[in-house]
Amino acid sequence: MKKDNCIFCKIANGEIPSKTLYEDGEFRVILDLGPATKGHALILPKEHADNLCDLPRETASKVLVLAQEMASTMMEKLHCDGLNLVQNNGEAAGQTVTHFHLHMIPRYRDDGQSINWTPGKPTQEALEEIRRQIVE
Ligand code: 5GP
Ligand code: ZN
Repeated sequence: MKKDNCIFCKIANGEIPSKTLYEDGEFRVILDLGPATKGHALILPKEHADNLCDLPRETASKVLVLAQEMASTMMEKLHCDGLNLVQNNGEAAGQTVTHFHLHMIPRYRDDGQSINWTPGKPTQEALEEIRRQIVE
């Protein structure tokens, strides 16, 4: 299903032109218009899903395989030194376009970008409490 007024539905399905790196029946991989680094790409499913939890299982299972193929190509062709996969879900996590997408961000030594967080220092008890909250 496509969602009205979803820009990534329109891009993924070719209604809005994009710099496409790859396309098949289910996915389009495009260059990000506001790239973090040279070659920053987005994997878009053609069917609309708001986020990771909303993604059909079959589609979800194919995303990482496609990312793996794209990563090999990008590493080879761009001669990048590394590559980050980033996937934001929800406004609190930085998602600005509510159509599932996986960022592929080639990294270059001294590219000046960072994908960092400040590590916390939880006690073993605190970790156990969180573990229980998730699994029970
Ligand atoms: P998010 O913050 O939702 O994880 O990422 C959205 C990404 O989509 C951003 O990196 C932004 O630059 C990119 N973006 C937003 N609108 C467009 C567009 O119309 N075309 C392309 N190619 N990228 C877009
Ligand atoms: Zn959409």
